[in-house]
Amino acid sequence: TYVVTDACIRCKYMDCVEVCPVDCFYEGENMLVINPSECIDCGVCEPECPAEAILPDTESGLENWLELNTKYSAEW
Ligand code: SF4
Repeated sequence: TYVVTDACIRCKYMDCVEVCPVDCFYEGENMLVINPSECIDCGVCEPECPAEAILPDTESGLENWLELNTKYSAEW
């Protein structure tokens, strides 16, 4: 899955939401998040993010962000 990280905070671009083929972006408290169980790992959103806030969870040190993406996207 891909995860949204801190560079997204208070970002008002919605480019990622528009390109996601499975609509798995959700609104968190002050940032967007990706629902890890819906994300199909296509990677289309990553280059679309002007803030470079979207990263694959295979990168190290993203455990907390993955948890937060899971938590916020589950509230919907
Ligand atoms: Fe959506 Fe693809 Fe990005 Fe996952 S990787 S959030 S499916 S655009």
